[in-house]
Amino acid sequence: MSNRLLISNVTIVNDTDLPFKGDVFIANGRIMKVGNELFDQAEQYIDGKGKDWLLFPGYIDMHIHGSAGSDVMDATEQALHQMSRSLVQEGVTGFLATTMTQATDTIEQALKTIAQFENDGDEATLLGVHVEGPYVSPKRAGAQPVDYMILPSIEQFAYWQQLSHNRIKQITVAPELEGGIAFIKALHKQGVIVSIGHSDATFEEVDRAVAVGVRQATHLYNQMRPFHHRNPGVVGGVLLENAVKVEIIADFVHCHPMSIQLAYRLKGAAGIILITDAMRAKGLQYGNYDLGGQTVHVTASGAHLPNGALAGSILTMEQAVKNMKAVTNCSLSELVAMSSANAAQQLQLRSKGRIAAGFDADVILLDQQLNVEKTICRGKVVFEKS
Ligand SMILES: [Zn+2]
Repeated sequence: MSNRLLISNVTIVNDTDLPFKGDVFIANGRIMKVGNELFDQAEQYIDGKGKDWLLFPGYIDMHIHGSAGSDVMDATEQALHQMSRSLVQEGVTGFLATTMTQATDTIEQALKTIAQFENDGDEATLLGVHVEGPYVSPKRAGAQPVDYMILPSIEQFAYWQQLSHNRIKQITVAPELEGGIAFIKALHKQGVIVSIGHSDATFEEVDRAVAVGVRQATHLYNQMRPFHHRNPGVVGGVLLENAVKVEIIADFVHCHPMSIQLAYRLKGAAGIILITDAMRAKGLQYGNYDLGGQTVHVTASGAHLPNGALAGSILTMEQAVKNMKAVTNCSLSELVAMSSANAAQQLQLRSKGRIAAGFDADVILLDQQLNVEKTICRGKVVFEKS
């Protein structure tokens, strides 16, 4: 047997139990044992003695468009490899390649590329597709081009699912659009995560949509009808609905730190999913970049369209986790819930999001400041901080 890795003397953190000091034995991409003083023979050893390292399940980013110069909508295998390779540097071991509102054939080209795509051994795993738009509201467009927004279609989606070889796991939709409720019902039945987003729905419309299957909210606060005390909107709705987990872009650009604190108080860690919504400029220098045919100006204050609208982020999951800790002072276990376990649960991935025997060996070593020291994908060390 080859590819055995023994990690010892690290603090093992899961979402549901107290962190504990221990060892993890990995073979052939799987976690075989978690315990104390394991002495299994391995080809590779990582000893955390004297280093105070934490071991987390690898981060899962359910909403990311691009990084390192590449974008999902480039619709090339090379772009997907580039993204998958770059993401391991920030502790991401799995992600949903996220499409955006574009012409139908452009979306279809991206789906076809993903259908054929297979990751190399040194990459984060492309876990599926998050289709963001085109079934969204022009009233809450943000950086999604209004010209390509259309009404939800169960038939068109079925064709897209087929094109993608059943890799579409999540869709962002505005339920108030004509046909929205029937669409949500059908997709929920198919096991696709239906996420309310880019939506101008009222509280009552949110309530109806959740009753038929909405289970997530796309980038909370951003591009959704805001809270008003006489009209609680999408924000009020998704904060109150227990069945809905909310995505948060914790970069302090897309939400004020205290808005993040508000969500944490209302939803708890079990109701929050940290995402980046990153675009291709992540990891590159400030300057001008393309997002779906629009020029995006990237500076220290974020990624903006010429009209000033936010156009995705350049946030890393590593920074999102640090920011969440800084603003809420939440526990390490709660950080694991928000950065990995909740996403795995939404995606019904029964072998990810947890450090336990039988689970995939997607784990990351962090220092006490939550800097990523090493990333291990499917049992292979794919990133080490220099
Ligand atoms: Zn997005």
